[in-house]
Amino acid sequence: MTERIPVRDTTPIKVHKPEPAKQEKRYSSRSRIYVRSVEGKFENIRRFFGLIFMGMFAVLPWFQYDGQQAILLDIMNQRFSIFALTLWPQDLTLLAYTLIVSAFALFFVTTFAGRVWCGFMCPQTTWTFIFMWLEERFEGARNKRIKLDQRPMDFDKFWRKSAKHASWVLVALLTALTFVGYFTPIDALFINFFTFDASFWAGFSVIFFTVCTYGNAGWMREIMCTHMCPYARFQSAMFDKDTFTVSYDAKRGETRGPRPRKLAHEDLADKGLGDCIDCNLCVQVCPTGIDIRNGLQYECINCGSCVDACDGVMDKMGYPKGLISFTSEHELNGGTTKIIRPKLVGYFIVLTVMVSLLTFDIVTRVPLELDIIRDRNSLYRENNDGFIENVYTLKILNKSQQDYRYKISVLGFEEVDFIGDTEVFVSAGEVYSQPVSVAINPDLLTDPVMDMTIRVEVIGDDNTSIAVEEPTKFLSRR
Ligand code: SF4
Ligand code: SF4
Repeated sequence: MTERIPVRDTTPIKVHKPEPAKQEKRYSSRSRIYVRSVEGKFENIRRFFGLIFMGMFAVLPWFQYDGQQAILLDIMNQRFSIFALTLWPQDLTLLAYTLIVSAFALFFVTTFAGRVWCGFMCPQTTWTFIFMWLEERFEGARNKRIKLDQRPMDFDKFWRKSAKHASWVLVALLTALTFVGYFTPIDALFINFFTFDASFWAGFSVIFFTVCTYGNAGWMREIMCTHMCPYARFQSAMFDKDTFTVSYDAKRGETRGPRPRKLAHEDLADKGLGDCIDCNLCVQVCPTGIDIRNGLQYECINCGSCVDACDGVMDKMGYPKGLISFTSEHELNGGTTKIIRPKLVGYFIVLTVMVSLLTFDIVTRVPLELDIIRDRNSLYRENNDGFIENVYTLKILNKSQQDYRYKISVLGFEEVDFIGDTEVFVSAGEVYSQPVSVAINPDLLTDPVMDMTIRVEVIGDDNTSIAVEEPTKFLSRR
């Protein structure tokens, strides 16, 4: 019997190659965005938040607490001081709680009000707006800047460009010095940097962050938001139809088009016109260069500049404001925004729980840690007095910012021979390590493995009652 297997020719007939023109377009170079400055409610809000955060960022590392820098994240010595709180690698749970709280705060705010973090509080936006403000001081408003860039180099263009870049570098340098000042004593850093006496790593870090700030806020700007920031990519997962985002009311705005200034709002419908006069101001003020009239786009950072610009236009035309506004999809379609909804409530509950846990962890934190490490060479031994002896290494970590004397005691047995120092002195931030022996009368040992507790407490300071108790085991042959 012969049966033939059907064969089909699957060789690709034609390999598609993009046309050169299309290839060029796909990888076309970035066209520069000349952002027009705008005044309005949201610009004022951004300046307000910008000033607060910039002020805090600049001033906080200069605060002193208890004779030392109040906020010092000393990575080399693995010690983070934040006013009265000193954190060590052992306090990693606090860092984990803080990150979880930050993440859920971001989820909550984004679900409620879209990317307002990006538009109003993100350092990239704050610094970009500062750099744009400086640019306008030296090169003028948007139209002047376009003309300046188009004309050949002359003295006027040269000094304007030089002054702009010098001011950018100065702001970037101060930013970098302040930022690095959170990780190393800031007063010494400023002096050492300007006297060329800074260590290699301090100098390198300052120059590195200066270049980053100058590059990000001066040159890259919206590229950071649209191509590099991961938050832009996953924000849409948090949006729903009740999220407030900057939106254009197409029903009201279309058909867009120019019209005489004196055309009354009531007569627009007769002329087949909507409220949008197609002035393009909303596009010119956008720091990411998009046209919000094309709908919600991932490049939009919810900065509200287009809202301010359009409200100004509506005001001049005598039309109601709000053609572009912070609104929800439901509201845009004629419905109402549901503020209390399951997703938002869920985020709020998790956020509240995590904030409570973080607060509890900070409030109940004891600035003292005791690690008990058993001797692995011998489980127990009998000493010359016939007592059973166990050997441990005690590690006492003084997590406070003060030196303390500590008393060591053993709990769990009526009679104990403690061989080792019962009082020790540990400097702030230091670890004291000592091998000790605990010997117990065998008549008191009822089991081969018995519970025992070692207690360490501060002595010689009536104002403090810092103490920790750590359980361990006492082994014998019984
Ligand atoms: S600013 Fe307002 S009126 Fe002008 S183009 Fe934009 S949406 Fe239309
Ligand atoms: S579209 Fe409007 S809100 Fe969005 S980034 Fe541009 S100016 Fe800001």
